[in-house]
Amino acid sequence: MSTRPARGYAAAQAKAPLAPFTFERRQPGARDVEIEIAYCGICHSDIHQARDEWGGAIFPMVPGHEIAGQVRAVGSEVSRYKAGDWVGVGCMVNSCRTCENCREGLEQFCIPGANFTYNSHDRDGTPTYGGYSDHIVVDEDFVLRIRHDPKQMAGVAPLLCAGITTYSPLHHWNVGPGSKVGVVGLGGLGHMGVKLAHAMGAEVVLFTRSPQKLDDGKRLGADAVVISSDEAAMQVHHRRLDFILDTVAAVHDVNPYLGLLRRDGVHCLVGVPDRPLSVIGGGLIMQRRSLAGSLIGGIAETQQMLDFCATHAIVSDVEEIPIQKVNEAYDRVVRSDVRYRFSIDMKSLEAAGK
Ligand code: NAP
Ligand code: ZN
Ligand code: ZN
Repeated sequence: MSTRPARGYAAAQAKAPLAPFTFERRQPGARDVEIEIAYCGICHSDIHQARDEWGGAIFPMVPGHEIAGQVRAVGSEVSRYKAGDWVGVGCMVNSCRTCENCREGLEQFCIPGANFTYNSHDRDGTPTYGGYSDHIVVDEDFVLRIRHDPKQMAGVAPLLCAGITTYSPLHHWNVGPGSKVGVVGLGGLGHMGVKLAHAMGAEVVLFTRSPQKLDDGKRLGADAVVISSDEAAMQVHHRRLDFILDTVAAVHDVNPYLGLLRRDGVHCLVGVPDRPLSVIGGGLIMQRRSLAGSLIGGIAETQQMLDFCATHAIVSDVEEIPIQKVNEAYDRVVRSDVRYRFSIDMKSLEAAGK
């Protein structure tokens, strides 16, 4: 297989700062699309993995699965994309395509295991390297079309993970006009959850630890914002919510939220704390509530989400940074000091000294 050099930033080992890294990517095969990356969002999962907080990390690691860019070249059998098209790549670059989940468009639950964009292996067994890099080569079936104005690409990139991870559960649990939805945590995922639930026509209540985010919550589309330490304010929503989307990245107490759900209500985790949560059974038994989880979304649903966002003029609120600031940005994400996603401008890779 012929390859050519790619430039990016990688963590050499767990907790090592990210640093410039040159590596090889395959030349596009018959079904591949080669994409020049314009922007890549920083997801909290990038940090969990680069710091090996979930175990089993593969180094050197080039993180990044919120990729927006422009097609540079396509293989001879590619039919849907051509040079110059604006496209996205999310958390997956391949899957088995034959298991029951792949056949139903739920590639994220591929039974032998999806091939993730980084910290994983591709179908041919080579390690995958993510979007903190100048280009990427991906099978056309895992490439998404972006219909937003190209000027919006910095804010579009985070839709490829933060957007689909919040859209998919809202969609699966039939959120729409008449629903009352809670969103817990106003970070990268949470702010997309608020925007999307609002655009789907739901009444949205945002729960945050951070009083300084109150005005932003309303601006982003929440009908009410509750500071989660305020018990009286929490009780206003007792047994009133149909669905709660919990985006918190750390161990936290889910029990006060269970009581806010109506009969048959669902509390869905999308955040991935590194230690177990404890749940009081009574909070589930009473009113037949469910505690659930959701992982990104399938490829067809990701396209549906991107189209929904283009139609509703939705992008992520981003702070653009050059790649040289990535380590500082990681620390700021952990401190919740970003409104609400960093988006790395990949032109910065060309900057002198890298
Ligand atoms: P983020 O930007 O850091 O947002 C997380 C938010 O959680 C923070 O803004 C904060 O909101 C709240 N929070 C943080 N620490 C907390 C604590 N100790 N107690 C209570 N609340 C706390 O992270 P993100 O990129 O949105 O990712 C969120 C989580 O989802 C991460 O664990 C990530 O790995 C995971 N994730 C899962 C999927 C999936 O497919 N399921 C996909 C992507 C990411 P407030 O200040 O408003 O309280
Ligand atoms: Zn992510
Ligand atoms: Zn499969």
